[in-house]
Amino acid sequence: MKPAAFRYHAPKTIDEAVALLAKVAGEDGRVLAGGQSLVPTMAFRLAKPAHLVDINGVTALDRIAVTSGKLAIGACVRHAAFHRPVCEGPLGKLLTDVVSHIAHYPIRNRGTFCGSLAHADPASEWCLVFAALDGEVLAKSARGERLIAARDFFKGVMTTALRDDELLLEARLPVLTDDTRCGFYEFSRRAGDFALAAALGAYRIEGGKIVEPRLAIGGAEVNPRRIPEAERALAGAAPGDKAFRAAAEAAMAAIDPMEDIVNSAEFRRDLVLAVVWRALERAAA
Ligand SMILES: Cc1cc2nc3c(=O)[nH]c(=O)nc-3n(C[C@H](O)[C@H](O)[C@H](O)COP(=O)(O)OP(=O)(O)OC[C@H]3O[C@@H](n4cnc5c(N)ncnc54)[C@H](O)[C@@H]3O)c2cc1C
Repeated sequence: MKPAAFRYHAPKTIDEAVALLAKVAGEDGRVLAGGQSLVPTMAFRLAKPAHLVDINGVTALDRIAVTSGKLAIGACVRHAAFHRPVCEGPLGKLLTDVVSHIAHYPIRNRGTFCGSLAHADPASEWCLVFAALDGEVLAKSARGERLIAARDFFKGVMTTALRDDELLLEARLPVLTDDTRCGFYEFSRRAGDFALAAALGAYRIEGGKIVEPRLAIGGAEVNPRRIPEAERALAGAAPGDKAFRAAAEAAMAAIDPMEDIVNSAEFRRDLVLAVVWRALERAAA
């Protein structure tokens, strides 16, 4: 099928893009970033936007920089930018590890980090990173700018706190200290497929014990999120099988898994046990 008819707009500045969105949002106007999610849904006529505001010509949105301890990722930064570390230390390495699980090269060359957050697929790797690290996004509309914290951003499957006339300008992630250990693990049926479950663990070690643990799950529930029950099982424990098993069992018990015709809730719980354990083992390696 071909997309339904739409009007195409190509702003060159953030202000132009925001002014256009203010005008067309009420008539189902949408932002076009990498197009790797939006265009296929338009081709199937699952989405029929009347206007597309293409931000690819807005060079100010191509920025990626560390400012005040945060990595700021502009709305036009592609997945492929993360094939090499974009910053020093564990965060740069973590993002390079994670990006290799997102789709395939052609999609990574067009799709954007911020587009993934705006699209909010439950299995999106970037959404999991964003939730695990308590990132924030900067959004702008004709009414002004606002910061939205990760815990307030995701509102359900493919639903976020962004308003129709808001442009997501950039996502921010905290730079991790050099002694932070990170591990990511996902299970998908074929390389490049969306994950059926994924986990990200991060912690530091002080006096042989785990401190400041973060453990988040993606792909299993409607949105990725940190799992406090699993983090409590890790805090103060010595890193190793006993603590990792306790955290994995806590995560498995805490989640409310999605079900579909192929994957039962029980299967997803089993997967969560495995991906949490393996993510924590990778962090310890
Ligand atoms: C075959 C295939 C496999 C894939 N596999 C994976 C995978 O394994 N993991 C994964 O995470 N993704 C996967 N994707 C999706 C891909 O990562 C997309 O690039 C991503 O989900 C959306 O980014 P985009 O820049 O392409 O956004 P677009 O497709 O342009 O937009 C997606 C949605 O977000 C909105 N939007 C985009 N940018 C902004 C902004 N700055 N402000 C406000 N709204 C905005 C759009 O209006 C639209 O509603 C896959 C896609 C394909 C086609």
